Amino acid sequence: MAVLVVAGLLLTGLYLLACAVWPYANCDRCDGSGKSRSPSGKKFRNCPRCKGAGRRERLGRRLLNHTNKTR
Ligand SMILES: [Zn+2]
Repeated sequence: MAVLVVAGLLLTGLYLLACAVWPYANCDRCDGSGKSRSPSGKKFRNCPRCKGAGRRERLGRRLLNHTNKTR
């Protein structure tokens, strides 16, 4: 049981480290292009989720920002 806990902590630590090094991931709606197709399928406009940036802040990064602020 203790091994599972240690492995979980290790994975969480690695994930947070990865989020510190690569804070952004490709937007999952537009796949990093920053554009999204309108329902009619013709016009391209900025992706509403990432506002045209094509990337989103990862969850772990937001967590790190939060802990940095409170510290
Ligand atoms: Zn997007």
